[in-house]
Order: sequence, then C-alpha cells, then structure tokens
Amino acid sequence: MSKNVLIMEGDGIGPEIIAEARKVLEAVNDKDGLGLDFVEGMLGGRAYDKHGHPYPEETREKARAADAILFGSVGGPQWDGKTERHLRPEAGLLDIRSDLDLFANLRPAITFEQLADASPLKPELVAGLDILIVRELTGGIYFGGPRGVRTLENGERQGFNTDVYSESEIRRIGKVAFDAAQKRGKKVCSVDKANVMEVSVLWREIMEEVAKDYPDVELSHMYVDNAAMQLVVNPKQFDVMVTGNLFGDILSDEASMLTGSIGMLPSASLNEGSQGFYEPSHGSAPDIAGQGVANPLATIMSAAMLLRYSIGAGESANRVEAAVSQVLDQGLRTGDIMSEGMTQVSTAEMGDAVVKALLAES
Ligand code: NAD
Repeated sequence: MSKNVLIMEGDGIGPEIIAEARKVLEAVNDKDGLGLDFVEGMLGGRAYDKHGHPYPEETREKARAADAILFGSVGGPQWDGKTERHLRPEAGLLDIRSDLDLFANLRPAITFEQLADASPLKPELVAGLDILIVRELTGGIYFGGPRGVRTLENGERQGFNTDVYSESEIRRIGKVAFDAAQKRGKKVCSVDKANVMEVSVLWREIMEEVAKDYPDVELSHMYVDNAAMQLVVNPKQFDVMVTGNLFGDILSDEASMLTGSIGMLPSASLNEGSQGFYEPSHGSAPDIAGQGVANPLATIMSAAMLLRYSIGAGESANRVEAAVSQVLDQGLRTGDIMSEGMTQVSTAEMGDAVVKALLAES
C-alpha cells in the first residue's frame, strides 16, 4: 500500500536542504520499492506571504492526510515584528504540532567519529555518541494550569505555573521511548525529580508499569540534575532518555551541543498513530540562505527517521544513515563542518554524494 509523504520547504535555507533530502528519499524509494507518494505544501513565512496564514487551510488538509511530513525550517528577518504573533512563521509550526497532536519529540544527539573534533568535549568522550532524547511535548508545566501572576494580600506579585501529567500522558510517551529503545540499544533512562515533585513520583511509577511490557528493554531512573551532569561527564552511558516537557527542553539542547555541529542534528515529532513531523533541529539560517552552502545532512537524517518511525522501513533508514557516514569517510564537508585536509562541497554536491553512496550500497 502506498504511503503519502508531505514535503514542505519552509523559509531561509529550507528549499535548499529539502531539495537534497528529497533526492535521497526518492532514491531510497526507488531502490527499496517503498511505494512512497510525494505531495507538496507550504508552512511558515512564505506560506503567510502567499496564503495570508503560516499554516494555510490547504496545508492543514494535506498534513492531516499524510503518513509523514518532511519539513525544512521556518522564520527570517523579513517577518520579524511585521505580523501579529499568531501569524508569525513560528506560529505555523506550533499550529501544526497541536493540530496533529504531536506529543512526542525525538531528538537524537549523534556524534559521527569523523566529526568528534567539533565537540566542545574531549573527542574520546563523544566519538560514536548516539543518544535519543524523547521529550513529552504537549503537557507538563508549559501547558498546566492554574498559571498566571497574582497579587498577594501583602501587595506583592507572585508568578505561578503547575506541572501536571496524567497517567495516560505518561504512559503514551513511555511507550514511544520503549518502542524506540527496542529498535536501538534496548536501554531507557527516565529522567525526573521524584525526590521533590509528586508529578515525578507518578511519572516514575507509570514508567515502571510500561517497562513490564518490554522485558527486553532495561529501565533506569535518574534525577534531572544528575542527568544534566552525566550528559557532560559520560554521555555514552545513555541510549534512550525519556522525560517531561521542561526537563526535555533543557536536556535536548544540552545533548545536541555535545555534538558540536548544528547542521547534523535531525528531529521527529510523533503522535499516537505512526504519523510524524520530521525536521532538522536547526533554524532557517537566513544568514546563509540562497548561497548553496547549507549543510543538508540534518534534513537527510530527518528523512531517515521518517522512514524508520512513520514508514516502518528501518532497513532503508539504516542505509541512508550509512550513506551519510560514508560521505564523511570520503572527507566531504560543507562549510559548517569543514576542517583541515577535507574537501569542501556545496549543499547539492553533498546531497548528490549521499545518493551516490546509497545507490552503491549492496
Ligand atoms: P539557526 O539554527 O537558523 O542558525 C544558527 C547558526 O547556525 C547560523 O550561523 C546558521 O548559519 C548556522 N546554521 C544553521 N543551520 C545550518 C546548516 N544546515 N548548515 C550550515 N549552517 C547552519 O538559528 P537562528 O539564527 O537563531 O534562527 C534563524 C531563524 O530560524 C529565526 O527566524 C528562528 O526563529 C528560526 N528557527 C526556526 C526553527 C525551526 O524551524 N524549527 C528552529 C530554530 C530557529
């Protein structure tokens, strides 16, 4: 049965990096007979310019019908401060996340051996690093109520938010983490603050329950303060980390910085079906847009995640990732990851090299 992939360029370097990821997806589709059908749509600033909304109705319909969505990135100075908040490019991203109930954010932090020197940590600490952070994206303290700023009897103002997670919310993110771990290193580390917060005590209890359905996956727990420290001291101890919205926001940024190369980091946001939204972790890089120098590898690896999590084509995903590793072995680098003795290539040359490596694989 054919699967429907919605491809959206977005703003800035979006069109350039998406063109390369699309080449790769088309090549793997033909080679592996995946039966993917490609549809195009618009999201972000250019969508606003054309349709008057960053998440136009037409895109909404296509997004709801898609099995998976591959996206570039949103935003740029031309839209900054010129439109109302709900019409800004970034609002389009928030709209689609809530429209499709994309509650699970998957952010891998991968350091290819070939690029370990780019990390701010010692190369031996990060070479071969491969962590997946699974962050709950639609609940927790960012959305919980009551919230606000109130005035106390003594006239002093007090700000307050509420961290809330229901059993079902914890269970569904837990399942995403355990499912992912089954396809990887079979270890889940659940991160919480159960020594202080009741919401974390429940979180821990439900994670233990979920673990019973995954006897092949090892579950451990870690307090968030220790997890932040361990990510820097010994990051390779982790396989999958699962955590709530606030802790995940912070830890996923920390983990991504361990790798040292923003142009290399993919991401996925999934809902309860296998539908997913895949995009690079970086932004639209308006400073280099249109120059043909952007690194397309984060987007290409987002396409690999799309194959793994929404299409059920894990073998094809592995092949795409292996092809990326091969072009790095060949010494090819875009400007952002360039180092002495390597060969600097353009966005399109990098995409072509990945396709070539992919097609050469047996
Ligand atoms: P950015 O990630 O776009 O860029 C930060 C730096 O990294 C820039 O110097 C840029 O040139 C470089 N960079 C980023 N991606 C690269 C790539 N693939 N290859 C080579 N170099 C790359 O972050 P920013 O400058 O803070 O934001 C620019 C715009 O992107 C803003 O409008 C922001 O709102 C938006 N943004 C969007 C997303 C998203 O779409 N999810 C995420 C973050 C920022």
